[in-house]
Amino acid sequence: MCIKKNANSYSSIHFFFSIISIKSIIFVHKNRNLMFSGSIQQFLKSKNYPLLSPKAVLFDMDGVLFDSMPFHASAWVQAMRDMNIPFTAFEAYMNEGRTGDSTIDGAFMRTYGRTATPDEKKQIYKLKTNYFEAESKTTPMLFALELLEYIKSKGLQIFLVTGSGQSTLIDSLQLHFPGIFRKENMITAYDVSHGKPHPEPYQKALEKSGLQPWEVVVVENAPLGIQSAKAAGLYTFGLDTGPLGVDVLYTAGADIVLASIEELYNKWDDFILNCKKQ
Ligand code: MG
Repeated sequence: MCIKKNANSYSSIHFFFSIISIKSIIFVHKNRNLMFSGSIQQFLKSKNYPLLSPKAVLFDMDGVLFDSMPFHASAWVQAMRDMNIPFTAFEAYMNEGRTGDSTIDGAFMRTYGRTATPDEKKQIYKLKTNYFEAESKTTPMLFALELLEYIKSKGLQIFLVTGSGQSTLIDSLQLHFPGIFRKENMITAYDVSHGKPHPEPYQKALEKSGLQPWEVVVVENAPLGIQSAKAAGLYTFGLDTGPLGVDVLYTAGADIVLASIEELYNKWDDFILNCKKQ
């Protein structure tokens, strides 16, 4: 009897939670659509663009395609320490996207009240590169390959827009994302006079794509990268893959912030659907 009663109770409870769970799925789905819909409407209104119709996706590299930021941060801290310049990992994340020279100048201004000489810049960047190459492991972000392949299968162009000049990571693109990136679809530290947060890196990618600003979207993880993309007039996903937090990415200007590239992969179709609905 007792067993039967328990079985019935279990059945009722199970049914109750099934209903709750179905309702939650519907709620999350509606909420997600509202989230995309609101951000797209706001973007179009602020820019006075006719529509958002993605034909290309511009990807940042560190912290978006590769889980490489912890190694960059650690290498910067060690290189600066070797030159007696106080520098924290948090600062490395906040400076992400700047050229190496610009990061070094900022730290020198704060410590010595002057910019670094060309020799000092060369020395520190070499130290940073050595630490990075000795310690880093090239790990692609989970679902980065799946998202790139899916976007490619839908006929969209894919560009890389990175402030990085680390040849190891750039070479690793071919290894981990075969057939996705070609040299003509890449903007690196070597292709620009001004690094992020200047709009030049994203403007150059836009020029290369031959598209209008409402036909591309950007995927970034860093505040300065988001500022760069927004200054170029582009819809920007902020990915909260580091220690800075959602608010920092929204404050930098992200149109919408997601937790990871996996979340973007899972919601890509919803996003495109919402672009078409506007
Ligand atoms: Mg990045």
